[in-house]
Amino acid sequence: MSGTAAIEVKEVSAAYGSTTALDAVSLSVPPGSHFALLGPNGAGKTTLVNILCTLRRPDRGSAVVAGSDVVRRPSQARRSIGVVFQDSSLDDRLTAWENLEFHGLVYGMPTRPRRGLIETMLDLVELGDWTHEIVRSFSGGMRRRLEIARALLHEPRILFLDEPTVGLDAQTRQRIWHYLEQLRRDRGLTVLTTTHYIEEVESADQICIIDHGRIIAQGTPDALKSEHGHSWLHVLPRDAAAKAAMLARLPQAHALGANALAIPADDRQDSDAILAQYRDQLAEVRFQPPTLESVFLSLTGRELRDRADGQRSADRAAGRRGGRS
Ligand code: ADP
Repeated sequence: MSGTAAIEVKEVSAAYGSTTALDAVSLSVPPGSHFALLGPNGAGKTTLVNILCTLRRPDRGSAVVAGSDVVRRPSQARRSIGVVFQDSSLDDRLTAWENLEFHGLVYGMPTRPRRGLIETMLDLVELGDWTHEIVRSFSGGMRRRLEIARALLHEPRILFLDEPTVGLDAQTRQRIWHYLEQLRRDRGLTVLTTTHYIEEVESADQICIIDHGRIIAQGTPDALKSEHGHSWLHVLPRDAAAKAAMLARLPQAHALGANALAIPADDRQDSDAILAQYRDQLAEVRFQPPTLESVFLSLTGRELRDRADGQRSADRAAGRRGGRS
């Protein structure tokens, strides 16, 4: 592989006791790209990010970030990366400014550039008006934006974001992606995100689909869709008996959650015949052209299950909270 990759992972394996979290994972991330690791909960995404951030050593294999091996040169690797973890690690009792100031001191940034960059970063994530407010009063979206500002303060070349938008409402999620895109474009930053929200990786340059600790596909969103995506009929049988009958007679059908079935529908004649035959037993029918969701379904026979449900409840909770985002 070329020596110019921003991140180079070779045959990395990691286990927690008898649980395999990563199984010989290899990937390469070009500089300045947005690279998305997509997979369901438990796929191994956080373990890989932890290894790349030097928080955990791989059991086997090697990983290099911005030219530094994470095991042999961890401090050098750490200087070139910024990280936004899933769980907030801000100090609630400090102001936005103080949180960033502390980070700058830890990184040994000299006073003048540190102060200038704190101001720039707070403006970038539109928190300039909240500079001297205590973080305890911030909404979830404001905290996440402050964490992004903090992760960028020491001017890293690579930014890792582990599930950056979990629990945030739709509007705030969009805003966060807007900042990240801007940063990538303006500063040539390499951005690696993990997510289990398929709709959030449509704009990534490269997507790596990971399941049970293994990479099962990698490519641009369009390439993945044309290579692995299929059209599906999503149907909702009227009752359990109808569902059982369809499953027994249609071996190609996959049972989904909420009693639904997914039936491959690349062959239009086939799917028309199925619909004609089972029309009376269906409460709902939806045609699904190739999407990244269908790529995952084709590759694993499963849906990225909690995507919609988790998002809906996050949106509901955000709606109830209202106010700042
Ligand atoms: P993801 O980020 O994709 O949700 P993780 O990397 O957190 O996946 O987890 C990968 C696997 O490793 C899962 O089976 C998970 O249960 C297991 N695992 C993760 N962290 C620990 C831990 N600290 N102790 C034991 N098992 C763990």
